Amino acid sequence: MGEGMASLRIYPVMHSLLNLFSCRLCWRITLVVFGLILAVESAILVPSATRFKETELERLAHAAQITVEPVLMLGRGLTTRGILTRDLAPLVAQYGIDAIAIFGPGGDLMTSVGVGPPPAFPGPSHDLSRMVGKTASAADGSRLEVAWKSDAPGSLIAVVRIDSSNISHDLAAYLLRIGGLVALIVLVVTAGTMFVLHRWVLHPLLQLRDSALAAGVMPDQAGEFTVTTTRRDELGELIAAHNAMLERVAASKRRDHEIAEERMRFLTRHDPLTRLPNRAALIEHVDSLARLPADGVRNVSLLLVEVTQFSVLNASLDTQCCDDLLGQVSARLRRAAPREFVAHFGGERFALIHDMMLCDAAGISRLAETVLREADGAYDLSGGQSVSLALRIGIARSEGTALDGRTLLNHAELALAGATECDSTHYLFYSAQLAEASRERQSLARDLKHAIEAGDLLPVFQPKMALTPDGGAVIAGAEVLLRWKHATRGMVPPDVFIALAESTGLIVPIGEQVLRAAVRAVRGMLERYGWAPPLAVNLSAQQFADPELVSHIAQVLAQAQIPAHLLELEITETAAMKDAARTAATLEALRAIGVRVSIDDFGTGYSSLSYLRRFAVDAIKIDKSFVDDIGTDANAEAVCDAILRLGKSLRTKIVAEGVENSVQLDFLRARRCDEVQGYFFSKPLPLDVFEQDWVVVKAVA
Ligand code: C2E
Ligand code: CA
Ligand code: CA
Repeated sequence: MGEGMASLRIYPVMHSLLNLFSCRLCWRITLVVFGLILAVESAILVPSATRFKETELERLAHAAQITVEPVLMLGRGLTTRGILTRDLAPLVAQYGIDAIAIFGPGGDLMTSVGVGPPPAFPGPSHDLSRMVGKTASAADGSRLEVAWKSDAPGSLIAVVRIDSSNISHDLAAYLLRIGGLVALIVLVVTAGTMFVLHRWVLHPLLQLRDSALAAGVMPDQAGEFTVTTTRRDELGELIAAHNAMLERVAASKRRDHEIAEERMRFLTRHDPLTRLPNRAALIEHVDSLARLPADGVRNVSLLLVEVTQFSVLNASLDTQCCDDLLGQVSARLRRAAPREFVAHFGGERFALIHDMMLCDAAGISRLAETVLREADGAYDLSGGQSVSLALRIGIARSEGTALDGRTLLNHAELALAGATECDSTHYLFYSAQLAEASRERQSLARDLKHAIEAGDLLPVFQPKMALTPDGGAVIAGAEVLLRWKHATRGMVPPDVFIALAESTGLIVPIGEQVLRAAVRAVRGMLERYGWAPPLAVNLSAQQFADPELVSHIAQVLAQAQIPAHLLELEITETAAMKDAARTAATLEALRAIGVRVSIDDFGTGYSSLSYLRRFAVDAIKIDKSFVDDIGTDANAEAVCDAILRLGKSLRTKIVAEGVENSVQLDFLRARRCDEVQGYFFSKPLPLDVFEQDWVVVKAVA
C-alpha cells in the first residue's frame, strides 16, 4: 500500500520530467540559451585570461625588484664587483630569479650572477624611467627579463631574468576555475530555463495539445475538454481562444445532432412515399390522446383502411405507377377526412384517427361512408389508363375507456379481417364476438399445425369421368382432396381449414403432404394394378408463386419414379391472374416437364381471355356454383354454355365439377363437355375404397 502510494506520488514527477525531456521546443530554447551563455562567458574569459597573465608577470617583476633593490640600496652605490656579486648571488633561485645582471649608467656590465648567459642590457627603446620595465622573454614564455634604473646611488641598471614558467600553470588553473564556474552557471541557468519553460510554456502547451486531441476524438463533447488554467499572458489568451473554439465546436455539434435527430424522428415516424405519419407515429398519437385528462366524453376512433387487391395491382403495374396510385389514395383520404389524423402504414394500408368529443358510432359510420365515397372508384394512371380501387375499413373505438394505441390498432385489424371475410361488407366495427372468432381461429391454427405434424390430414380421391359419345362415362382421373377429422371438433370442412392454412402460411407444408400422397398413390396403383388414373392436386397461390416450384415437382416425380403426365395441378383462376406474365412462364415450364395443369373455379374470378389464350393449360374447370344452378337458372346455364364454347375455340378440355344429377349431366353432355366430376358418380373416397370402386374394376376389364 505504502509502496503504491509512493509510486503514485513519484509518477507525476516522473511524468513531468519525461514530458520535459521529450519536449523538443524546450530543448531548442535551452540549447540556444546554453550557447548564448557560453558565447558571453567566452567573450569575458579570453581578455580576463590575458589580463591574468599580465598581472602575474607584473607581480613577478615587482617581486624581483623588491628582492634585488634592497641589496643595491644596502651597497649604497658600491660598485665593487666582488661585494655586489657576493650579495646578489644568494638571491638567485629565490622568487623565481634565474639570473641578475647589474650595469653601470653607461651600460657596462658590472656584475652578473645566476645560470645561463647574463641578461642583456636593455635596448635604447626601453623605458628605464619606469620602476620596472620588461625587456625580453623567452619565446616559449618560460623566461622573462625585467630591467629598471635602481634608486641606489650610482645610477645602476639592474636586469633580472625570472623563471615565469609557473604562470602558464597558474593560468591553466585560473581558466579551470573560471570554466568550472561557467559550467556551474550554465547548468544552473539551463536547469532554471528548463524549469521556467516547463512551468510557463510546456505545461500550458501540453494542456492545449491534450485538450485539442481529446476534442478531436469526441467533438460532440468538446466543451468538456476546455483548459482550466488561467493566465495573464499570450498563452492565457491562446487558452481562452482555444476554449471558446471548443465551446463553439460543441455547440455546433449539438445543433447537428438536433437536426439529425429531428430528421431521424421524421424518417422513423413517416412513410417515405406519402410522407404521412406511419404506424409507430399513429400508435404514439393514440397513446398521447389516451393520456389526456379523462373528461368522460372523449372517444377515439381508429379507421384502418385497406386497398383491396392492391398486391395484385402491385404485381402487374410498375413501381412508379403503384407509388402514384398510393399518393392519389392518400390525397383522397385527406380530402375525405380533413380534420382527422391520417397515417400510412406502407403498401395498401392507411389509418384515420378521429377524436372529436361526443362522436357516436353513427358519426363514425358516416365518416367511413364519406371515405368510401371519396376514395373508392376509378383512379387515373399515367398513359391515359385508369384502374378501379375498392377500400375496406376496420373500425375500433375507445368508447370512453383509455385504450392504448396498440390495443386500438389490434381491434381495428380484427375488424378489418372480419370485413375481409364477409366479402359484402365494406366497413366493420370491432366487437367482442370478432375477438372471440379471432381467438377461435388462432386455436384452430394451432391444432392444424399439430395435425400436419402428426399426419392427421387424410387425402380422399374423387373420380373425374370422361363423357363418351355413346352416352357413357369412363374414369379419366381423380382429384385429391384433404379431410381433417379433429379429435374434439369432428370433421373440419376444407373450406375452413384450407383458408386458415392459406392465411397462416401452413398451406405450404399441407401442399407438400398432398403432393407426396398423390405420387405415392399413383406409384402404389401402378404397382398393384398395372395402371393408374392421373391424379390432380390443388395448388395454393403461395405454392404457385414459389420460384422453386417446377424444379421441386420434377424432383418429387423423379424420386417416386412415375410418369409426369399422371400428375395434374389445379390452380384457381384468381391465383393464376395474380401475376399473369409469371403464370404464363410457370405454366410453360410445368408443361415442359410433362405435368398437366388445369384452371380451377373458372368463372368466379377476374377472367382475362387474352391471358387465357397465353396460358398453356390442359383443362378448365367450370366452377361448381354454375353447375349447381343448371336446370334452375338460365343465367348459370348461359355461363356454362359460354365456357364450353370457349373450351372448343381454345381446344382446351372443359371439366364440370359438382355434378349431382342427370339434368346437369344431360345439359353438359349435350354441349360436349369433356369431363365431369361430382356426387352423381362418386363422393371423394379414401384410397382403398377408391381403388376398389374405380381402379380394380377397370384393371380387371
Ligand atoms: P375444389 O378444388 O373446387 O374442390 C372441389 C370441391 O367440390 C370439393 O370440396 C369436393 O368435395 C366438392 N364436390 C365435388 N363434387 C361435388 C358435388 O357433386 N356436390 C357437392 N356438394 N360438392 C362436390 P372439398 O373437398 O370440401 O374442398 C373444398 C375446397 O377446398 C376445394 O375446392 C379446394 O379449393 C380446397 N381444397 C381441398 N383440398 C385441398 C388441398 O389439398 N389443397 C388445396 N390447396 N386446396 C384444397
Ligand atoms: Ca380443385
Ligand atoms: Ca373447383
